[in-house]
Amino acid sequence: MKALVFRGPGQKEWVEKDRPTILKPTDVIVKISKTTICGTDLHILKGDVPTVAPGRTLGHEGVGIVEEVGDAVVNFKTGDTVLISCVTSCGKCPNCKRHLYAHCDDGGWILGHMIDGTQAEYVRIPHADHSLHPIPAGADEEALVMLSDILPTGFEIGVQYGHVKPGDTIAVVGAGPVGMSVLLTAQFLSPGRIIMIDMDPARLELARQFGATDTIQVGSEDVVARVMEMTHGKGVDVAIEAVGVPATFDTCQKIVAAGGNIANVGVHGKPVELHIEELWIKNINISMGLVNTNTTPMLLKTLGNARVDPAKLVTHRFKLDEMMTAYDVFANAAREKAMKVILSA
Ligand code: NAD
Ligand code: ZN
Repeated sequence: MKALVFRGPGQKEWVEKDRPTILKPTDVIVKISKTTICGTDLHILKGDVPTVAPGRTLGHEGVGIVEEVGDAVVNFKTGDTVLISCVTSCGKCPNCKRHLYAHCDDGGWILGHMIDGTQAEYVRIPHADHSLHPIPAGADEEALVMLSDILPTGFEIGVQYGHVKPGDTIAVVGAGPVGMSVLLTAQFLSPGRIIMIDMDPARLELARQFGATDTIQVGSEDVVARVMEMTHGKGVDVAIEAVGVPATFDTCQKIVAAGGNIANVGVHGKPVELHIEELWIKNINISMGLVNTNTTPMLLKTLGNARVDPAKLVTHRFKLDEMMTAYDVFANAAREKAMKVILSA
């Protein structure tokens, strides 16, 4: 079969590789129908995630058809169409019991990280009973791929951890696929105002189409001053960081209102400066974390909702064997006006 293999920082190859086989009775082999590329894959290629070994097949998102099932698998059979969760979880260990699937004793984010991932013709999914989801009849498969990672990430780590409530004024710093997923899923809770912040005018335009009430373009406007003006000097109830650099975390610290929340979603490679000398008196909360995907079954039930339609995030489509071109487009998202790419078998 063909797979996208990480060869070390800056190097990747679309190569012939052995098909995965069942290693444990709880495994399933899935034939990939649709997959995508994540900002995190680009982080890996930059060398930001040293736990990924050369030779690893990348990818942690996708939908497919069950090809083979291990003897202990009860929820799935050959021929079933499934959604692959980016987080693998056994469902039985103490952390899984409290829905902290990201910290499963025998899972977590391992796909396309510690084990071979979904940017391939076939993938092995451990603990399949708990890590795959049956696909509702007639569901839009492109929309479903957005539910492997980015939609639960935006909802759990941005909206839920940020305690977004009806009527709140929220700001999302970063209008990439994850920030856009925060924008879409925050609308389940009817915030009064959603301010999207990015330097890319095309992404801000898309954000307005997806329900942002206000946008601020980094570089051409003073972000903090604009937010303070919009909120009569009070700041926002929830400031959500969806980039992963010190500057954007700093923006969140400066725009959060008294009694508010800072929800950090971005993956950081460098320390940030915490302005506790200004924040201690403001009665705020700061949260962060890795997606658990515990809300995926709920998100699956919202798929018919036209307003919060994750298929809107797909801008480019390729065949699976156009993987290298798809990476090139996704890595140059601003130039290509790309948000999410879909690769189909
Ligand atoms: P992306 O790189 O596609 O998007 C980032 C966006 O931020 C871009 O639109 C870019 O223009 C904008 N940006 C860059 N610098 C900025 C600045 N100074 N001010 C405002 N905007 C700025 O990334 P993505 O796929 O949307 O992911 C966002 C972050 O979320 C990444 O760090 C990713 O690794 C992380 N992530 C976290 C989890 C989790 O479980 N916590 C899961 C998935 C992804
Ligand atoms: Zn577990």
